[in-house]
Amino acid sequence: MEEFATIQCPYCGQSFDVAVDTSIPNQRFTTDCEVCCRPFEVTAECSDGEVLSATAVSG
Ligand SMILES: [Zn+2]
Repeated sequence: MEEFATIQCPYCGQSFDVAVDTSIPNQRFTTDCEVCCRPFEVTAECSDGEVLSATAVSG
């Protein structure tokens, strides 16, 4: 199941939503910023079908 979580781009600071698979408790994936199009890594924690946290990893 996918839920949307808001993350902030570490490069341009823009916040936008990404789809997170809530069946995986701890995950790490790469996404492209919707605004500046730079790829960055995101770590997400999920529990009971909800996204607990989603954080952009800079550098
Ligand atoms: Zn950006």
